Amino acid sequence: MISLIREKCRSLYIADFGIVRARVFGELSDFLEKCGHTPMTTPDIRRRTDPFLIMPEAKSIIVCLMSYYTGDEKGNLSKYARGEDYHSVMGRALGELAELLKENGYRAEGFCDSGDLNDRYLAYLAGLGFFGKNGFLIHPVYGTYTVIGYIITDCPLDESAPLNSTCINCGECVRRCPGGAIAEDGSFCYEKCASYITQKKGELSSEEERIIAKSGYVWGCDVCQDVCPHNKNAKKTKNPEFNEYLCKDLHIDTSISNRTFRKVYKNKAYAWRGKGVIARNQEILEKKGK
Ligand code: SF4
Ligand code: SF4
Repeated sequence: MISLIREKCRSLYIADFGIVRARVFGELSDFLEKCGHTPMTTPDIRRRTDPFLIMPEAKSIIVCLMSYYTGDEKGNLSKYARGEDYHSVMGRALGELAELLKENGYRAEGFCDSGDLNDRYLAYLAGLGFFGKNGFLIHPVYGTYTVIGYIITDCPLDESAPLNSTCINCGECVRRCPGGAIAEDGSFCYEKCASYITQKKGELSSEEERIIAKSGYVWGCDVCQDVCPHNKNAKKTKNPEFNEYLCKDLHIDTSISNRTFRKVYKNKAYAWRGKGVIARNQEILEKKGK
């Protein structure tokens, strides 16, 4: 089965994949409790650590990595949001991979930002990279500019080994983060992260506005990835879905309706948040002359 999976992954532009044996990832509980949860993650630690809640017969988790990196041109959109929405791209690929497993008599269910398990930790266990101080998973070839998806299946597969490596600990991400979100000890405060703030709804505090203005991003933030030496020679993606209709700078017409916004930008990763949040961020950047 593994050679069929490998072949399928190659055809789907899945840059790398690895296998984790299905088990309760109890070793994460303390860590997750300590860092708390963001509005994007569930506070229920069991749901974040137990794949059997999704599939009681689960045997393996196939963790897939796709690169979205098309080059390091500057822009006000985070690189992951410049091409087609990665949820759709990875979602379709996982759907096809799950189909292959089903054709061979197994159960399979795919998740890309739609499941509760900690996908970066799964990717680490699957041997797809090591952790940077900025919390990102660093793949030895594709760097941090990647999307993670996973499939829970009852297909028994041999487990991959995690990589025995760490980031070079240069501290650039700590020094350059516009919000001071990354501490020297590697702990992370999501409330100071521009990527989180640009997605947050409602009125922002003056400190949050300052962080967005300093980052220069209307959506997301790549500063701690762009300065990371491990990304210096990151391999670019060949996936046409990430290479077509690229938009690195977003300037919306703020007079359009939310409905029109969602229609025009429906294939983009920021469309789900609606016009209001983008318009607000754009105004903050314009005020600061960015
Ligand atoms: S994404 Fe930007 S704001 Fe968030 S931790 Fe990285 S550099 Fe800091
Ligand atoms: S910028 Fe330096 S400290 Fe930060 S993740 Fe990269 S190598 Fe590690």
